[in-house]
Amino acid sequence: MIEKRQFYIDGAWVDALEGRDHHVINPATEEPCAVISLGGQADTDAAVAAANAALPGWMATPPAERVALLEKLVALYKTRSEDMAQAISMEMGAPIDMARSQQWGAGYGHLKDFVRTAKAFEFETPLGDHAPNDWIIREAVGTCALITPWNWPMNQITLKVGAAVVAGCTMVLKPSEESPLSAMLFAEMMDEVGFPKGVFNLVNGDGVGVGSQLSAHPGIDMVSFTGSTRAGRLISIAAADTLKRVQLELGGKGANLVFADAPEKAYKFSVARMMNNTGQSCNAPSRMLVEASVYDEALDAVIEAAGKVKVGAPDEAGNHLGPVVNATQWNKIQDLIQTGIDEGARLVVGGPGRPEGLNKGYYVRPTVFADVTNDMTIAREEIFGPVLSVMKFDSEDEAIAIANDTPYGLTNYVQSTDDARRRRVARQLRSGMVEMNGESRSSGSPFGGMKMSGNGREGGSWGIEDFLEVKSISGWAAE
Ligand code: NAD
Repeated sequence: MIEKRQFYIDGAWVDALEGRDHHVINPATEEPCAVISLGGQADTDAAVAAANAALPGWMATPPAERVALLEKLVALYKTRSEDMAQAISMEMGAPIDMARSQQWGAGYGHLKDFVRTAKAFEFETPLGDHAPNDWIIREAVGTCALITPWNWPMNQITLKVGAAVVAGCTMVLKPSEESPLSAMLFAEMMDEVGFPKGVFNLVNGDGVGVGSQLSAHPGIDMVSFTGSTRAGRLISIAAADTLKRVQLELGGKGANLVFADAPEKAYKFSVARMMNNTGQSCNAPSRMLVEASVYDEALDAVIEAAGKVKVGAPDEAGNHLGPVVNATQWNKIQDLIQTGIDEGARLVVGGPGRPEGLNKGYYVRPTVFADVTNDMTIAREEIFGPVLSVMKFDSEDEAIAIANDTPYGLTNYVQSTDDARRRRVARQLRSGMVEMNGESRSSGSPFGGMKMSGNGREGGSWGIEDFLEVKSISGWAAE
């Protein structure tokens, strides 16, 4: 078993001051694959002190030098791709090919894009021609706590670390205790690249411990958090006493509006996008809204596509779904599937229990419910598993109303070959992102939500701005 009990603080791997052992469970075997330490207040304090001490020097480092280190990190991250994919696959169950392409790749894409964006980013600008003596400086928010989830571990960590590095912030990363191995490998890379000591620190811990301690810590200027809406609320409360900035990337319950004139590929796409990462994506299109005139044929196509989705072991090559992350998630998904049945949704693919032949591991049957109504629990709660709810609408207005009738507002989807309609609908959807006709948003576009999906924007220049303060100065007398 892997033993990784140390934390990365002030440029060195150090023993925990108040550590207690925690087993990382491989979701495919239900057996421990590693042991880490969960830190306590003394570890949190040590990491925050190191980050605070490094802050003045790091803030004063010219952006070009910070970006040069980030460029070195991009190169190193590429050479460690296989190690990273293996770590992610083992700790959270992503099938190895998917871990290599999407999970590792998401991190690579973000880091590369931050380098590109940073080179064009203007940290200092005059207010305008009308006020030549007014100077606007964008400077680091300060010392940041980065609290991340397990579902897309490198995606989340690179979105935060990359932006913080460019902005000149120092940081304490607390990765999810479910996925600490990829985070520690990332910390090894930060060390090898040679960031000044204290700029980047990692402390493992759980939410009640290190997570809460960072959120309440007077030495932390900002918390950048990705995870559940439940934890986002608790972090906001813990952060309130010190009035620190809190950037939140939370859950979602995406609607996927499929109109009668949707492109042919829309049905397959709708299933594939929902099932990807075993449904464990905040931006999963979990509510598929289909125009009534094509409902029956759409459902046939969805049933066919979902019936072909394979489930298998993460260490097997191929395009299948792995297990979900842990027993808690497995049980929650089972309960919600049963609730769907009990509340009268029509089960058309999958259902409760494990897929045939997979008796150990947190495997879930890819599941589709038809005739779902938006008041049902499965249409309201984030399931975070491979469960698709299909419902019917009669008009564009009704589809928009159903889509917006949710506490969340992260990503919605539109499928229609009518350009004017797509644009009209996109404007009315209350979500931070709208993806249409299966076209991915490009690298550098802002990722984030509205309502209970949070308030942050990650990636590209928006992601950097989240880590910056705006300072307005008069009497500058620019040279
Ligand atoms: P989680 O909220 O349980 O945990 C996320 C992180 O927060 C972990 O590091 C955890 O230890 C920590 N944490 C938990 N409680 C805390 C507390 N009270 N104070 C401080 N830290 C605390 O979420 P999860 O199960 O790891 O991840 C799944 C959730 O993340 C889903 O709801 C998903 O939608 C969301 N998510 C959102 C985005 C986004 O960008 N919007 C991206 C990925 C995942």
